[in-house]
Formats: sequence, C-alpha cells, structure tokens
Amino acid sequence: MPDDSIPPRPRHHEEGFATRMSHAGRAGTRVHGFVNPAVHRGSTVLYPDCASRGGLWKDRFNQVLTYGIHGGPTHHALEDVVAEIEGGTRCFIVGNGLAACAVPLLAFLGAGDHCLVPDSVYGPVRTLCDGQLRRYGVETTYYDPTVDEAGMRALLRPNTKVVYTESPGSHTFEMQDIPAIARAAHAHGAKVLMDNTWGIHHFQPFRHGVDVSMQALTKYVGGHSDILLGSVTVANDADWAVVRGAGAEMGHYASPDDCWLALRGARTLPVRLRHQEQAGIAVARWFEARPEVQQVLHPALPSHPQHELWKRDFTGACSLFGVIFRPEFTMARVSAMVEGLALFGIGASWGGYESLALPTTGFVTRTATSAHPGPMVRFHIGLEEVPDLIADLARGLDGLSAGG
Ligand SMILES: *Cc1c(COP(=O)(O)O)cnc(C)c1O
Repeated sequence: MPDDSIPPRPRHHEEGFATRMSHAGRAGTRVHGFVNPAVHRGSTVLYPDCASRGGLWKDRFNQVLTYGIHGGPTHHALEDVVAEIEGGTRCFIVGNGLAACAVPLLAFLGAGDHCLVPDSVYGPVRTLCDGQLRRYGVETTYYDPTVDEAGMRALLRPNTKVVYTESPGSHTFEMQDIPAIARAAHAHGAKVLMDNTWGIHHFQPFRHGVDVSMQALTKYVGGHSDILLGSVTVANDADWAVVRGAGAEMGHYASPDDCWLALRGARTLPVRLRHQEQAGIAVARWFEARPEVQQVLHPALPSHPQHELWKRDFTGACSLFGVIFRPEFTMARVSAMVEGLALFGIGASWGGYESLALPTTGFVTRTATSAHPGPMVRFHIGLEEVPDLIADLARGLDGLSAGG
C-alpha cells in the first residue's frame, strides 16, 4: 500500500537537544532518500473507492487522512518536532501563536466557568478574555503573576476550570512558580495552561505540572522573522482529544509551506538558542553596569526578583529582556535614543536572527497589579556579534546621558 506519511521516530530522551532536533520529524528513505521532508500542500485526499472516506493514507499515529484541514505529512513532521522540544506526547500546529493560546481556552471553558489569568499576560490574550470569552459567559480574574500556592488556592472558585500561566511575562518578565500554581489548580480539578514561548525548550512544562503548553513558533523556532505559526502541545491522549477536537471544530489550519520553514528553523534552534542566551546575558549585564539604567529585567541575572525560580525550573534563557531607564530620562528621550540605534530594529515579535528594541511602557495593561514605573524598553538580542551591539548601545546611552 502506498504510504508517504512520516512514521513516528522513537523518542530518544537520553540524546542531547541538538541531536534530537537534527533527527526528529524526518522521513528517511520515504522521500526518495532526500534529507528533508517534502512540502505536502493539499486540500483533497483521494479515497480508494466510493464507500470509504479515506483509507489509503495514514498518518504517523495510524489515523486515516481524510481531508487537508486535518493536516498532512508536513504538519505532522513539525508536530513531532515541537512535541520533542517541549517533552510532550502530541502537538497540534495552528496558524499563529495567538490562535494557539485561544484554542485551549475555548476548549476547556464554557458558559458559567471562571478562568484565572496572570496580570502580566501577553496582551492579545487579555483582549480575548475580556472580549469573546466574556461574551460567551466566561469570567476572568487577573492575578498577581508572583502568587504562591496558598495565594492561588485562595483565588480558585468552585467554577474555576482553567489557570492560565506565562513565565516570564513577555514585557515585564515576572517569573511564576508554576509547580506551586499547578499543585493548587490540580487539587481543585482545574487545567493548567501555559504560554511557553519564552521558555521554548529551557522550560519543560509537563515536568512542572502544566497540562497544555502553547508556543508562538513565530519566535525562535521559526527564527528568521518570516513566518507566523503556533503550537498546542499536551502530554496525554485525554487532553489531546479536547484541544485537537476544539481546533478542528473551529477550522484551525496552518500553511504547509510555513510548517516546512519552521522545520528548517528547528534544525538550528539549539545552536541559535545557545548563542542568543549567552549574547542576551552579556548585553543585559552590560546594561546593568550603566548609570542610565534603573533596572534590568532578565530572569537569568541574580538581580531579578524571581531569579531563584528561574534557577530552579529553567535550564536556560532566551534573549528577550527588559531595561527600565532612570526616571529622569523621559520616554520621549529614550525613544529618540532607540531611533538612533543602527543595529536594532524597532518592532514587535522576537526570536529572529536580528536584534530589536521596542519601547514598551505604553503597551502594558494592568488591572490587578501595577506595572513598572519609568521608561521601559524591551530588547531582543539576535545573532550579530556582541561587541558590535554593545558599541551601538554605548553610543546611544552616551547620547542619552549627554542630553540627546
Ligand atoms: C508573539 C507572542 C504570541 C503570539 O504569537 P503570534 O504568532 O505573533 O500570534 C503569544 N505569546 C507570546 C508570549 C508572544 O510573544
């Protein structure tokens, strides 16, 4: 029977990350010996006869492929790779990171339910909770992201079905005590969802009590600022059935071409992450020593208020962090400094090969806690040489001090 689907590669957890990223999701001899899987574009899947709806082609979990919207071999290859990155059993690829966050919220919540969301949450998720979810009868309470286990227990209500987490917050960088939050949530029967875009592989969500992990593959997995994709990953078949079922009901789908680019990105993800972690820490340390800077928000620095949580639960850091400038430097002056930088683009998103600087003070909405005072800039460190980046930043900060 012809079958060009990709068989599951047995997991080799003892192998290193880069080794597994080199080999996961590859089809071997089934693509005529070529190293990489093909791009399978497709809507129609041909059936062998009128009576069957599918039957000829099977995916790697031995399920019959029936129609393009349910994914094809290119999606499945990427799903295996992302499950490997996060230590999950199965993954579902959707069109972007926000959709990945929305699917499990809509899957596990219904009218009359209550949801807990950290005050530091990625902004568009707040908009979803205050918009569609509220209209559908779901109530959201925003909580202090640094809540401890007893604090979380006190927040849970009889109808709390979901505890949403994101650690660290992608603008203000508070770390969450995920195991403590998960203990309280699970004792209550609530599901723990996590946006693990910052942690990627450095945080293994399912070892710390997370039920469903979402990522914007748009960021480091894509790695080249040329695609949007999201992933929803789980660690058991029951959760898989709920989130994959909801995704199918709502018609979620991603382009196989984008999946192919994300697969390509995943091959170099470990070396990029290793390089960008070191570069990000080097630049963050440099900022910390500058007189213009009030505080650097980087979980891997000992000065971070929740550094101990990062040390306990994470094996590394990505290259996204915040810098709060001293209050005498107004946002207007700091923005002018950012505009003068030669090597840092001004823009949203992160995880690409290029460095970015984004003034974020106006971006941050808070309802349960207060945001950091003072002019704040979020930096993403790319793959440029660190001394060149620091020279550019030094020119900028010297100008700022001189009244520029
Ligand atoms: C970018 C981002 C998302 C959304 O990803 P898109 O692919 O841009 O929709 C979700 N969560 C976090 C933390 C992000 O930074």
